[in-house]
Amino acid sequence: MRKYIIAGNWKMNKTGAEAIQLVNALVPKVASLKKVDVVICPPFTALSQASEAIKNSNIGLGAQNMYWEDSGAFTGEVSAAMLLNAGCQYVIIGHSERRQFFGETNQTVNKKTQKALAAGLLPIVCVGETLQERQSGVTEKVINVQVVEGLAGINSEEMKKVIIAYEPVWAIGTGVTATPEQAEAVHAFIRGLIEKLYSKNIAAGLRIQYGGSMKAENTEELLNQPDIDGGLIGGASLKADSFLGIIEIANKLSA
Ligand code: PEP
Repeated sequence: MRKYIIAGNWKMNKTGAEAIQLVNALVPKVASLKKVDVVICPPFTALSQASEAIKNSNIGLGAQNMYWEDSGAFTGEVSAAMLLNAGCQYVIIGHSERRQFFGETNQTVNKKTQKALAAGLLPIVCVGETLQERQSGVTEKVINVQVVEGLAGINSEEMKKVIIAYEPVWAIGTGVTATPEQAEAVHAFIRGLIEKLYSKNIAAGLRIQYGGSMKAENTEELLNQPDIDGGLIGGASLKADSFLGIIEIANKLSA
């Protein structure tokens, strides 16, 4: 059985002090919820404070991006070693906002994913189609290219550490959620693709999160789908109550 993973993508929100406040509200409530992996992904500037605040808790820490080089003249970038040093175990790679606003491509996603794995970080690799792509009927084609190119050169052992987040771009931050059937169809497609590229075992063990306006109200119907193994949560992860609502449902469904 795959353990649900609920990760909060805070995007460009929260100072260090605000991060500590949110973490302090989450830690005691999450302490008894052992059947679900909970991860928070604050901005870089709040990672160290968040790391300190989640010490001795069952909350994991992730970053929202990284660069693939070790060090050097790459102004504004952050390396995998720096993230590990700040206390991260996870890193989000290729979020659609990075693809849309910061020129990320499947090739940069691939370099970052390879580096994250080599450094010992668990990558959450994001894929997803735009509304126009969905309406043109090319969703599977787009996801296929994102997965094949994004994971090029990653071997089976490494693939066991990869988490994929399926995030339809049209559902991110819009309040529009994919229906459970729409989401499940793409999750099943991704799992089938990983089976073809790797093996039945690796596909069966792969955790695929859904992302896109997920909230407590739609969590149960999404997580009840056979190929949905958790959520990557934006807006609803910024407040303790709404994030906890999702985590509690995931924990209950794992019972
Ligand atoms: C995200 O940022 O990955 C996301 C899914 O955002 P939201 O939950 O706000 O749609």
